[in-house]
Amino acid sequence: MPAPVAARPVSRLRSAVISLVHWFDSDFGAEDIDRLQEKPNRVDWVRTLPFIILHLGCLGILWAGWSPFAVAVAVFLYFIRMFAVTGFYHRYFSHRTFSTSRPWQFVLALWGGICVQRGALWWAATHRHHHQHSDEVEDKHSPRQQGFLWSHIGWITCSKNFPTDYRRVKDLARYPELVFLNRFDTLVPAAFGFGIFGLGKLLQQIAPGLHTSGWQMLVWGFFISTTALFHGTSCINSLSHVFGRKRYSTGDDSRNSFVLSLITLGEGWHNNHHQHMSCVRQGFYWWEVDITYYLLRAMSWTGLIWDLRPVPVVAYDRNRQLAASRHSRASH
Ligand SMILES: [Zn+2]
Ligand SMILES: [Zn+2]
Repeated sequence: MPAPVAARPVSRLRSAVISLVHWFDSDFGAEDIDRLQEKPNRVDWVRTLPFIILHLGCLGILWAGWSPFAVAVAVFLYFIRMFAVTGFYHRYFSHRTFSTSRPWQFVLALWGGICVQRGALWWAATHRHHHQHSDEVEDKHSPRQQGFLWSHIGWITCSKNFPTDYRRVKDLARYPELVFLNRFDTLVPAAFGFGIFGLGKLLQQIAPGLHTSGWQMLVWGFFISTTALFHGTSCINSLSHVFGRKRYSTGDDSRNSFVLSLITLGEGWHNNHHQHMSCVRQGFYWWEVDITYYLLRAMSWTGLIWDLRPVPVVAYDRNRQLAASRHSRASH
């Protein structure tokens, strides 16, 4: 019988090779998810390497420089992809707050894919888990349970959180095209990166007045914009459970924040969302700016999406009740 100390390097090498394969095929050799959850939180450095490279790629500005055009592209790509994260990955795939056709659903998954936040099914399964266990011990990214840094960035590097729990997304796993995009989740980001690089090369040739290049567009349009997009999105996991005001007693630490709503196109109304997660709108009042909702409403006029679930009437009643109870407590 081999000694445990002799077996460890072999098993480490094996898990490193599997992590490497997971870069390309995220469902390869799928582990028993329940068994995986019993293990302690551990950073999988091999699996996390592309995520580290994404951040290091931002340093490319030292070589590629900048131009007003490249910066504008980075900002534009941040916002159209933030819209995909909140409008499609979150409000459609995770919560099904509106309906669409099967072909358009595929387009939404592709659009979400260029956000480089993995596949729609992984995103939705992870997020549904968050709603079920918000700020409880099982929550994968709770500032209350594991600290701020883990909730913001640590959890995404953890070996326990890489596999897709398909049991939580049976409604989506019925579509093989969505499962394919989810399984091979580097395909769309890679095509996106090459596309941006190619566009920069082309513009360098045909529009030299823009003073851009393939590398410059890759650095700004892909690396910087995508890194900012990740941290903007992640603020909802971390800051939105720490910073802001609570309208509803949801039992978790979710909060509402105007500032976070601006950088996430409406996701900052996180306490509203935790209270009523099935409605398409997260800003419940006109002053609660929710740009994703306005864009989805405009999209519904084209007929591409429909059946946008409204804010339940009880949301407003409950608010009045809480305000009344706060007022009566204050006057006593
Ligand atoms: Zn939350
Ligand atoms: Zn949600």
